[in-house]
Amino acid sequence: MNRRRCKIDITGIVQGVGFRPFVHNLAQRLALNGSVSNTSEGVRVDLQGSVEAIDEFKRSLVTASPPLAKPTIVSVDNLELDRDVNTFVIRDSSVGQKKKMSVTPDAATCQDCLKELFDPSDRRWKYPFINCTNCGPRYTIINDIPYDRPNTTMRDFVMCDQCRKEYSDPCDRRFHAQPIACADCGPQIQLLDSNGNLLVTDNPLEATIQLLQQGRILALKGLGGFHLAVRADNDAGLKQLRERKYRKAKSFAIMALDVETAGCLANVDATAGRLLKSIERPVVLCPKKYDSDLSELAAPASGYWGIMLPYTPLHYLIMQGDYPALVMTSGNITDEPIESDNVGALEKLGRIADYFLTHNRGIYTACDDSVVKVFLSKSMLVRRARGYVPAPLSFTRRDQMDILAVGAHLKNTITYVKGDKAYVSQHIGDLDSAAVYESFLRTIEKLGALTGSEPQIVVCDLHPALLSTGFAEKYQNVKIIRVQHHHAHIAAVMGEYNLEGPILGLAADGVGYGCDGTVWGGELFCVWRDRFERKGHLQQSSMPGGDQASRQPWRMAVSCLFQTYGFVKGKALAQQIIVGVDQGKIAAVMDMLDKNVNCPTSSSLGRFFDAVSALLGICRENTYDAQAAIELENVADPSVTEHYPVEIAVKDCMTVLMIEPLVEALIGDLQSGVGRSIIAAKVHNFVVAGLAEQAGILAEELDLSTVALAGGVFQNDIILTRLVEALEIKGLTVYYNRKLPVNDGSISFGQAVVADAKANQ
Ligand code: ZN
Ligand code: ZN
Ligand code: FE
Repeated sequence: MNRRRCKIDITGIVQGVGFRPFVHNLAQRLALNGSVSNTSEGVRVDLQGSVEAIDEFKRSLVTASPPLAKPTIVSVDNLELDRDVNTFVIRDSSVGQKKKMSVTPDAATCQDCLKELFDPSDRRWKYPFINCTNCGPRYTIINDIPYDRPNTTMRDFVMCDQCRKEYSDPCDRRFHAQPIACADCGPQIQLLDSNGNLLVTDNPLEATIQLLQQGRILALKGLGGFHLAVRADNDAGLKQLRERKYRKAKSFAIMALDVETAGCLANVDATAGRLLKSIERPVVLCPKKYDSDLSELAAPASGYWGIMLPYTPLHYLIMQGDYPALVMTSGNITDEPIESDNVGALEKLGRIADYFLTHNRGIYTACDDSVVKVFLSKSMLVRRARGYVPAPLSFTRRDQMDILAVGAHLKNTITYVKGDKAYVSQHIGDLDSAAVYESFLRTIEKLGALTGSEPQIVVCDLHPALLSTGFAEKYQNVKIIRVQHHHAHIAAVMGEYNLEGPILGLAADGVGYGCDGTVWGGELFCVWRDRFERKGHLQQSSMPGGDQASRQPWRMAVSCLFQTYGFVKGKALAQQIIVGVDQGKIAAVMDMLDKNVNCPTSSSLGRFFDAVSALLGICRENTYDAQAAIELENVADPSVTEHYPVEIAVKDCMTVLMIEPLVEALIGDLQSGVGRSIIAAKVHNFVVAGLAEQAGILAEELDLSTVALAGGVFQNDIILTRLVEALEIKGLTVYYNRKLPVNDGSISFGQAVVADAKANQ
């Protein structure tokens, strides 16, 4: 027989995902001898046997690998046959290896484990922490690499004999499953009241289900932190939750038992169904069905339910209760990160939850649920966190230095780049709060350790006064690179699709610090990876009160009226149209505008939507980010195709989309009694037509045929759908982020793309 020996090096996600046992079993099945071991780069297989078997091995290695593994064969080298080898063994990780990323995201409970969970004859029947090499906690429980039990929050639990046996048996599906546990040796749940007193019950799980059925609010400790849970069909419970959480209107996510149940609550298409069941188990935004039993209080003023399926064994057990769905919202207090430790949760959430179902498996890294939506039949990330992080994005390098990018001020994420991989962190939050800033610092430290990064380049925003900028500037002996917010937005798209410039970039969002010190947010650029030229923008207007104008859309409405009609007529119109706001306040803002005191200039499309939303009386105060724009979108009648007049001015070689003609036409409609849903639609269509027209002019002038769209405004489905269509009609190829959010969650990645290109300048 023709025998051969070879060495196969494999990289990709191959550690801590049951890859070596898989290799072991595959080799045995094919009667191959040799060994498999972890290396700093991945896994190495030393193999000998028949040529046919080795070929089959190489094929199956990629096609039949375990669900969490993503192997890539990097090299196959022939070696001299070794006659003494006649078994196949798994070698231990060699100590002293170079640090290497080998942590995978947390994975939803697999089918095999579920079967055992609900099998009364199984020794892990109803055990809330059942897991295996194919599923269970990863990123959230690990504090250092390599991914071994002593480096996880499972280190305090000593394996019982049976678990140890499974853990040590290469043929067992729990071979080297680091979080392996059973009721005899693993974590346990506890039911507490809101003061932290233990409730006496022999079945805390059953008691929890009872309480939920009765409509009580429970804080449930999950994978990445606590959830606040209440029946999604219970008005009273939801009203209470909203009051206690000071969350007036923002939608809550819900958990449904399975795809069939989800399909009764919302329109779940094939893509949504696939996402709901995916191993990442994100919250999936699905169009509501209005004939379900769910309370409108769970997601008022939204046409979507954010639905997720259970992803831990504990969730599966809790979802056996008699309710159509549970609201499961992040267990945090306003503007703070999700609570993840038992003491902190009791302290912070004791006022909100009636009871706590907690457990003694620690969470090292808090992680919110991820959120995705379906756009043009494909998935699009809205918030990237649990289930996706820390899986890297591929990164085409020009330079090889390690990079740390500290991201945007709002919806902050951070990114490390090492080798040809970019590690984008979980959604951290808005850095306004001290608690979020601490979580930002912790994430930089932890993800740095897990990736073994030693940044030689640190990237931050151009804005000198941001906390993140101050943080970056404290680094010694590194190159500090400052990147303009919207340049980073477009670069994030270039990075995701591996585009080289120049391309046309269209960045639209709430607020970004511009190169001229004004607020930008409705921008058209010619973009290279390392630089950009501003070529157009939305007509500027004033933001009376600065940041206050972002929280109070009515201020932007006053500003637009002042700009269009001047002081006297503007004031009269404002006091007539903007009802529900104190007349004195309106007058004061008019004075501010007239005297140009504390009125920064902005070309932000986000602020423009705020103004319109307030003019239509839809939303005058934002209780959460982009509320005014979201509610405006919900009101807009999608059947309307008409738009307000588009007027493009050319000033200093820049195209400017004028808003004054729109304001005049809109006020005219309003005064002649045209419905809000029609006006809102005409505004959306104006933005689409205006941006498309500007893009068309610039594409021709600059001879560009590729355009990237980025920024929070493109979370608006009406805008994105219609603009993509309009641009494609003009013959342009359109790109926008899908693997990363189009909002500021992608800024850190975009900053890294720019920094890499600028590394040697
Ligand atoms: Zn499993
Ligand atoms: Zn055990
Ligand atoms: Fe932005």
